[in-house]
Amino acid sequence: MKIINRNQISLFLLFLFFSIGCKTANESENNSFSVDMLENAHEQFLEPAITHRRFTHSDLQPLIEKHQSSFELRTLGSSIEGRSITALYWGEGQTKVMLWSQMHGNESTATMALFDLFNFLEGSGDEYDELRSTLKNQLSIKFIPMINPDGAEAFKRRNALDIDLNRDAISQISPEAVILKNARDEFEPDFGFNLHDQQIYYNVVNTPKQATISVLAPGYNYERDVNDVRERAMQTIVGMNEILQQMIPGQVGKYDDGFEPRAFGDNIQKWGTSTILIESGGYMGDPEKQYIRKLNFMIILNALHQIATKSYETYTTEQYFSIPDNGIQLMDLILNEVEVEVNGKLYPIDIAIRRRESNAGETYFVNGNIEDVGDMQVYFGFEELDATGHRWVEGKVFEEECENLDAIDEAEALELLKQGYLAVKVKSAKENQLHHLPIMVLHSRETFSSGWMTGASPNFFLEKGGELTHAVVNGYLIDLKNPKDQDLMQRIY
Ligand SMILES: [Zn+2]
Repeated sequence: MKIINRNQISLFLLFLFFSIGCKTANESENNSFSVDMLENAHEQFLEPAITHRRFTHSDLQPLIEKHQSSFELRTLGSSIEGRSITALYWGEGQTKVMLWSQMHGNESTATMALFDLFNFLEGSGDEYDELRSTLKNQLSIKFIPMINPDGAEAFKRRNALDIDLNRDAISQISPEAVILKNARDEFEPDFGFNLHDQQIYYNVVNTPKQATISVLAPGYNYERDVNDVRERAMQTIVGMNEILQQMIPGQVGKYDDGFEPRAFGDNIQKWGTSTILIESGGYMGDPEKQYIRKLNFMIILNALHQIATKSYETYTTEQYFSIPDNGIQLMDLILNEVEVEVNGKLYPIDIAIRRRESNAGETYFVNGNIEDVGDMQVYFGFEELDATGHRWVEGKVFEEECENLDAIDEAEALELLKQGYLAVKVKSAKENQLHHLPIMVLHSRETFSSGWMTGASPNFFLEKGGELTHAVVNGYLIDLKNPKDQDLMQRIY
């Protein structure tokens, strides 16, 4: 019989304690980090200078400069309007990873997460040191945080030539597209992250769940073949999805992999870089996308670790293909079975409404629009109303002119709605002045547009039994008996 002394047992127990301790602290069963660790890291290293999604090139320059001692900074060239495009290099490893964001100027969520990641990578002397040294020794990373600074300046998709950079990978008309192509050719990354935002109306197909994050390992040919390069991207995405399912269960969609011969993602995959597309969508109660920024940080950091340790190899393409597809079936508001009158007869129609954003400096206002009418059962509304037995009724403009916006408060606006007025006129106002009132405010116009057909502005009342029950103001639903607190993103017309 072998005799084990007490010291040996204690050593063994100590070893056991530490192995379990390390595992629960950093890694779950499946190669992914624990979401707690990733969330804590984000909280600790969040870049406080970025607080909303409409920042510009000049906001970012001091934040890039701040990292010059830990990162190598290189100016890659300039945009059409002369704004610099900078790459930040970090790490000394064999495996090369390139991440580029905001080739569409108004898609800035991942850019915010990259600046949080720069802070994280620059950190030291804490519980993340081991992770940092793994990343540093295994990876060489090239970050390009804003490929389209001219688009970002105007918070619009396209560049100053009105070209969609994601359709300019081959023609190379735009200097920004030349810069991105050269950045890839010079570096020849093993892995690439193509970082975008998608419309908030994307869902996980045939479910009411918003696709808060969508992913894709883009196809590199029309046949949608899977080679080693694309397979590695798919495997890495499976690990990212494991993290996401713990944070936003059921809210991850997979983009269509139809080949687009002009797109960067598809071509970079074709040129031999395992390419991962991340699309940031919408999340309830997060209009400035700060929660989605955190999700980006978490999955990118997790993916970098998977690549550094090759732990993505444990995942399969089948797991990738089982991620549900993206749909675009979300509406801001659906009114079901509203009765509209045509030639003296009533017809019950569903009315589907979206409220599209327009830029106003660092904020925005919305323009409601009727997207479709008829049988809307294939769509899901963020808000839905069963309007069976309710009739569509036109609203009026209040006869008495008010001095200015300050002369009307929310309670008065609601009182006017109850009396059938959907708009009020003001004598003085700034052009396109913004407000949050639950009523249309007119200055340079005598009336407001209205209707119930597709393309019409959703400004009307619902009436039941001779009584007004709801107002729809610029696409926002207001229950006249029980109005809820909501900030309408409005402008004066
Ligand atoms: Zn995009």
